[in-house]
Amino acid sequence: TKTLTIVLGDQLDRESAIFDDFDPQHDIIWMAEVAGESTHVWSHKVRTAFFLSAMRHFRDELREAGRRVDYRELPAKSDGRTKVGGEETLAAALRDAIDRLKPERLAVVHPGYWRVQDDMRRVAEEAGLELVELDDSHFYTTPADFAAHAEGRKQVRLEYFYRELRKRFNVLMDEGDPVGGAWNFDKENRGAFGKKGPGALRQPRRSNPDNTTQAVVDLVNERFADHPGELDDFDWPVTVGDARRALTDFVKHRLPDFGNYQDAMWTDQPWLYHSRLSAALNVKLLNPREVVEAAVAAYHAGDAPLAAVEGFVRQILGWREYVRGVYWNHMPAYLDRNTLGADQPLPAFYWTGETDMACLRDAVGQTLRYGYAHHIQRLMVTGLFAMLLGVDPRRVHEWYLAVYVDAIEWVELPNTLGMSQYADGGLMASKPYCATGKYIDRMSNYCGGCVYDPAKAIGDEACPFTTLYWDFLARHRDRLAGNNRMAMQLKNLDRKAPDEVAAIRRQADALRERLAEAPDKPRA
Ligand code: FAD
Ligand code: SF4
Repeated sequence: TKTLTIVLGDQLDRESAIFDDFDPQHDIIWMAEVAGESTHVWSHKVRTAFFLSAMRHFRDELREAGRRVDYRELPAKSDGRTKVGGEETLAAALRDAIDRLKPERLAVVHPGYWRVQDDMRRVAEEAGLELVELDDSHFYTTPADFAAHAEGRKQVRLEYFYRELRKRFNVLMDEGDPVGGAWNFDKENRGAFGKKGPGALRQPRRSNPDNTTQAVVDLVNERFADHPGELDDFDWPVTVGDARRALTDFVKHRLPDFGNYQDAMWTDQPWLYHSRLSAALNVKLLNPREVVEAAVAAYHAGDAPLAAVEGFVRQILGWREYVRGVYWNHMPAYLDRNTLGADQPLPAFYWTGETDMACLRDAVGQTLRYGYAHHIQRLMVTGLFAMLLGVDPRRVHEWYLAVYVDAIEWVELPNTLGMSQYADGGLMASKPYCATGKYIDRMSNYCGGCVYDPAKAIGDEACPFTTLYWDFLARHRDRLAGNNRMAMQLKNLDRKAPDEVAAIRRQADALRERLAEAPDKPRA
């Protein structure tokens, strides 16, 4: 073998640069399923099944196209061959492949995990082999583009990076100006459903499991029986065809209302107007350009309003590229950031959904069932609660990386540690996303079905979010005082009588103590 062409589980990209110089006579594609990728965090069954099924479908497609693929299937029981210190790891599987196939060099596209990149480099060095690393052409930008944008700026903000990309890639532009005369239609994109609720919602198109997926579902149920989640409803797209049909279904039926209801939540309605495309995008079954183009085409055809289309494009061309830039610009030190010195354990209900707080019960419950929650549930329910409580950001990160079908570290970590926990001290977000239960009340119907009252901070009926919000402001007052954007919130805190603040803080301490009693996390 000349080149061992490494294709990782999140690199299922037909157009990948790794195939440009592929020599079918001498090169071999290497892919491996290893348990370590499901056990280094306590991975949700849906997340593991999604990756394995998409990988197997991609393998079959490569083989049908006449390419040689050395593929390691995860055995139902450990075969011991790739074990290191009790764990089966990707690095050990790669060493095993090098021993068997004796390549002259290795090639890989820039991975989605710093840890995996480090492993690949280490294994290549130990084996005395060259490792060719290619930029990932799936993305609009490279980490170097982001680093160049960040260079010399005191603060990097999504908005300016996004505008640069709109211009550079000519997306929703009209002779140098943004289409519609504004870069941003956020004001139109903050709607709630009100008392009436969302009405009868059309459910997203299902991608029904074929035999390959069914075999994976059986394997995951056997091998990872005690991991969180269930596979009965598994319907994620695992092929390019399924992913494109899911995209068409979204653009036609949900995109027109995506903008307006982007931040809204409703009990037992996990999908609402969201696209459900993150997992297919992140393993590269879908290219972000085709997703953006489909949305822009719907605008030009008069099928979706500009605010919805711009809001959607901003997520993909903006946020998705931006968080990747933050990740590669700041790893590996980013993983250890803990600006607020948070050290609480993660409450046990994150792994069970068993809590009397209705919003958390719904958001965690659907997460455990489907491996999915939409952005505002992740940011302003599970994320907000952890930040206000003061949970160690590393534990919060491990939870998010484990439980979402779309979780890959480059996108999960900046969103969790930066945007939701403010543990990076403001790299990702200009201020902490902190709010009382009243925010959740405004954006959902959760509070109507809850034993707590979002307006109260003290007493048996006090909403824990509201109690912890004031406690959070009081605890971090000095740090936050330097931030202009927090001025209003701190002013409101200062209006409270000292007795009231003291009572709130006692109640917050009691809550923290009670939630810390349960074990942090069941271990695999
Ligand atoms: P939609 O609401 O339909 O949005 C469209 C697309 O935009 C998404 O598919 C996604 O590709 C992209 N997008 C939207 N918001 C973001 C964002 N903040 N960062 C990057 N891309 C974005 N997204 C992941 O893909 N993987 C993760 O592991 C992940 N972890 C998160 C953790 C936290 C704490 C938070 C607050 C957000 C996280 N996100 C993550 C971002 C976002 O919540 C998900 O991309 C989105 O909910 C996926 O559902 P959807 O495809 O229906 O998205
Ligand atoms: Fe959540 Fe508080 Fe509303 Fe209950 S009252 S649903 S805990 S925000």
